[in-house]
Amino acid sequence: MALLQIAEPGQSTAPHQHRLAVGIDLGTTNSLVASVRSGKATTLTDDNGDSILPSVVHYAADQTIQVGRTAQALAVTDPHNTIVSVKRLMGRASKDLKTLAEHIPYQFNNDNPALPRIKTTAGEVSAVEVSAEILKQLKIRAENTLGGELSGAVITVPAYFDDAQRQATKDAARLAGLDVLRLLNEPTAAAVAYGLDSGEEGVVVIYDLGGGTFDVSILRLNKGVFEVLSTGGDSALGGDDFDLAIAEWLVAEAGVTELNASLNRQIINEARRVKEALTDADSVTVSLLLGEKNWAIELTKDKFNQLIDALVSKTLASCRRALRDAAIDKSDIKNIVMVGGSTRVPVVRDRVAEFFNKQPLVEIDPDKVVAIGAALQADILAGNNQGGELLLLDVLPLSLGIETMGGLSEKIIHRNTPIPVARAQDFTTYKDGQTALAVHVVQGERELVADCRSLARFELRGIPPMVAGAARIRVTYQVDADGLLSVSSLEESSGVEAKVSVKPSYGLSDNEIEQMLRDSMNHAHDDMEARKLREEQVEADRVLEAIDAALLADGDRLLENDEKSLIEQSRAALSALRQSGTAEQIKQAVKTLEKTCEGYIARRMNQSIHDAMAGHKIDEYTTNKDSK
Ligand code: ADP
Ligand code: MG
Repeated sequence: MALLQIAEPGQSTAPHQHRLAVGIDLGTTNSLVASVRSGKATTLTDDNGDSILPSVVHYAADQTIQVGRTAQALAVTDPHNTIVSVKRLMGRASKDLKTLAEHIPYQFNNDNPALPRIKTTAGEVSAVEVSAEILKQLKIRAENTLGGELSGAVITVPAYFDDAQRQATKDAARLAGLDVLRLLNEPTAAAVAYGLDSGEEGVVVIYDLGGGTFDVSILRLNKGVFEVLSTGGDSALGGDDFDLAIAEWLVAEAGVTELNASLNRQIINEARRVKEALTDADSVTVSLLLGEKNWAIELTKDKFNQLIDALVSKTLASCRRALRDAAIDKSDIKNIVMVGGSTRVPVVRDRVAEFFNKQPLVEIDPDKVVAIGAALQADILAGNNQGGELLLLDVLPLSLGIETMGGLSEKIIHRNTPIPVARAQDFTTYKDGQTALAVHVVQGERELVADCRSLARFELRGIPPMVAGAARIRVTYQVDADGLLSVSSLEESSGVEAKVSVKPSYGLSDNEIEQMLRDSMNHAHDDMEARKLREEQVEADRVLEAIDAALLADGDRLLENDEKSLIEQSRAALSALRQSGTAEQIKQAVKTLEKTCEGYIARRMNQSIHDAMAGHKIDEYTTNKDSK
C-alpha cells in the first residue's frame, strides 16, 4: 500500500485503463521527462540515448526554434537569441528583472510590466513561452517513446516558488498542450523517488546542489502524509562557484595579469572539466593555452577540496538554519537524499555525511531523481496505481498576513505551514457604526505592512452598524495543493460575505524571498519595537476620539469645576506624544488621561443609564464613519 494518500475531489480513477502520464523536471540548467513503464520509473531519452535536455531555446530570424543541445551550441555565437536559465525569469515582473539585470544579457520589452517580453530576432517572447518550448520538446519525446497521447503530467517546481511562479509554470504547460495533474515540489519528488513515502516514518533531508543553486528541504513522513517542515538554501551557490574557485586559483598560479573574455571562458571551461574529472581521480592535469604557449599544472583532489571548503561549509550553514526552522535535531533524521550534479563531488558527500552523522542516499543518479519521483506521482494521479489515495503536503514559503489598524501585519498562516491549509481569524470593527472593512492581504515575515509584499485588497461592505467591537468578522485564508491562495471574509451576525482569489501578477524572486527572510531576522527586534509603538498609537487615537466625542456630547453639562482644564491638559499631552513619543510614554499618557477622566466618565455612565430609563438613546454622540 502506498503511504501517500491522494485526495483529488471530483477525480475518480478509472480502473483497468492505463493512462500515459509523465513526470517532468523543468530545471534551470537541464530538464528531464520520466514515466512509469512495467511498474518501474525511468527517464525517457532522445534519439541519441540522451535523457538530459538542456533548458536552452534558440530563436532564429527565419522563425525556426531549436531546443536543447543544438540551441546550447548556438549560445556562444548568438547569445542574444539563445535563452538560457529561463526558469529564473518565470513569474517575474519588469521591476523584479532590475535586480537580476547584470546576469541577464537579453533586451526586454516592458510595455506590460507584469509580463516582460524578451526581444529576439524572431520577435518577442515571454518566459512562459520559452518554457513552453522546452515542455513541448519533452512532450514530443514522451509521446514518441510511449507511443500515444499523454493524458497528463506532474511538473516539479522549487519548494520556495511563490504563487506567480507556480502560475507561470502551469501557464507554460497549458501552452505546450500538457494537462498538469499537479505541481510537485522538487524535494518531495526526490523523496518519493527513493520510496521513502512507503518506508518508515521520520524526518528526511533533501540536499540539492546544482549548477547555480543550492536548496535544502526538511520533510517529515507522518501517518502516511508527507509534509515539508522547512526550506532553505542559497539561490546563488552551486557547482558554477566550484568552477570559479578553481579558475581563481589558476589565474594566480599561471600569473595571468590580463584577462579578456575569451581567456576567461577558456579558464572556466577547463576548471569545470577538471572539477568533474576529480570526482573519479586523485589528481588531474590542467592545461591552458596562454598566448602562444601551453601552460600546465597538476590539481590534486586535496587542493581542490581546500579550494571549495568554504563553499561547502556555506551549504552546511544553510542546513543548520533549515533544521532550526523545522525545530528538528540532527539525531532525528532518518535519511538524507542527494540531488543535483554537484553532489557527485566526493568531498561534498563526505562533509554532508559528517555533518548529519549519517551516510546520504546516492544510489539514484542525482540528475534524474526529481524526474523519477514526479513520474511515480503522475502514475498514481493518472489512476494507474491503485495503491490508494494520496495526499501530498507542501509548504508555504512566506507567511500570509492581514493588515490591521496601525499598518501592522497579523500573520494568519505562518511560513513553513504545510499546504493545502485553511486558517480563519476573527476580527471586529474599530469604530461605532462601521459598515465596511478593508481587507489587505500581505506576504512576508516583517511586522509592519510597509515591509511586507502586498498581494491583494478587497472590501467587505454592508456590515450592519453596531458599536465598535460588536461585529464578528471571520477572515479565512485558504491555500490549495498547488500553493494558490484565496481569501474570504464573513460578518457572522448578518451573513455578509466577500471573497477574492489571489493571483498576483508580479512574482517574487527567490533572492527577494531570501532577502525578506534575512531582513525579518535582522529586524526582529526593531520590528517588535515598531509594533509596540503602533499599537500604543492606535490605542491613543481610540481614546482621544472617544474623549472628544464625549466632551462634544455632554462635556458642558457634566464637567465639574476645574475638571475641564485638567482633562484638556492631559489630552494635549497625549496628543503631542502621539506624534513623537515612545511606546511607553504614550502608554503612560493614555493612563493619565483616563485617570483624569475617571470622575467624568462615571457621571456619564450614570447619566446614560438614567437617560435610557427615561427613553433616550445613549449613543447619540457616536461617530458614524468607516475605519480606514
Ligand atoms: P541545475 O540543478 O542547476 O540544473 P544540475 O543538477 O544539472 O544543475 O548540476 C549541474 C552541476 O553539476 C554543474 O556545476 C556540473 O559541473 C556539476 N557536475 C556534473 N557532473 C559532475 C561530476 N561528475 N563531478 C562534479 N560535478 C559535476
Ligand atoms: Mg536541479
